[in-house]
Amino acid sequence: MQTLRPCAIVCGTDAVASAVALRLVEAGYTVLLAADAAPAVVPCGESFAAAMKDGEASLDGVRCRRVADAAEWLRDGAHDIACCAQPLHVLLPILEPDVLVGARLSAAAAPVDPRGRAPLMIELEPAAATGADADPDEENAAIASPARIAAGVLQTILRRDGLPPLARAAVAGVLRNALSGELNLYAATLGFDRHEFRALVAACLAGVEPEHEWEATAYALCASQAPALFAPLTELLLAQRAPGLAERPARWLAHALAAAGFGSRHLWQDLGLSGRAEVSRLMRLCFPALAKQNTADLKWKRFLFLALGEQLGRPGLTPPHCDGCDGYAACFGTARPAGTARDDAQGGAA
Ligand code: SF4
Repeated sequence: MQTLRPCAIVCGTDAVASAVALRLVEAGYTVLLAADAAPAVVPCGESFAAAMKDGEASLDGVRCRRVADAAEWLRDGAHDIACCAQPLHVLLPILEPDVLVGARLSAAAAPVDPRGRAPLMIELEPAAATGADADPDEENAAIASPARIAAGVLQTILRRDGLPPLARAAVAGVLRNALSGELNLYAATLGFDRHEFRALVAACLAGVEPEHEWEATAYALCASQAPALFAPLTELLLAQRAPGLAERPARWLAHALAAAGFGSRHLWQDLGLSGRAEVSRLMRLCFPALAKQNTADLKWKRFLFLALGEQLGRPGLTPPHCDGCDGYAACFGTARPAGTARDDAQGGAA
């Protein structure tokens, strides 16, 4: 089940605001651009500004549509990016954004959400946004300025939250799937001890209580049931985490991704995401170096176990449970021969 993603409001529709909006959507936010009714910016192909005039605009394959008001956007499910000419003081109490970018607002003027949290307010000051935290991959600072600013905005968010919303949704999805029986029960602990698991829930899933308190011995027994290759897979992921991701939250995500990898359904299903495209976004966002190695655009679960097999000296390692998948032939290029022995990632608990 998909839940509504956190909302970010970005002020303006110019190239910088649009680049920030794209970056935030990629990170898992739904974004409303708070636009002037008659923006001074000349609409061009590098921004969503034309959406205010024409009703919609696309940038990098992402569509932004104009909505009459925030209520309409919410009614339609608040997908991806929209723009709206409602004043900020009207939008804020309706949307209760998690993040507010580009507004000069006193902290006292910002609404507080039901969890008692005010939005993270980020001003678009290029000098502050393009410092040491800027994306080191950008080769041309002058041309990439909006992208660098957008990267700086995301870094500011990660300093507060540890993980972007898309990653938090994946962690929550794995826990949900474990508790509903879609994944083995050890996944409900993500293989962490209780102390670490509670830290994860507190930091990652704000406002969510662990579903139930387990008796200590039962919890420890459950956490110890992870397959033998669970730990190596988490280490493979962790070693290639994005430069801006701190080690501890990256480990939480790596455990969730690995636990989903041992599931019997498509990876996106066991992560509780909306489809393969979101897994691709998650990989590019949080494990970009590893994602770049998937040059053949293999299904991510297959790719991860192949990469793990390469690392362990077991080339051709396959994920467990793929033989039950309708997409087996498309994924492996061959029908699975009945009764053939295989070197797959099943095995005893570690
Ligand atoms: S066969 Fe391919 S598509 Fe099906 S679960 Fe395995 S990796 Fe995913």
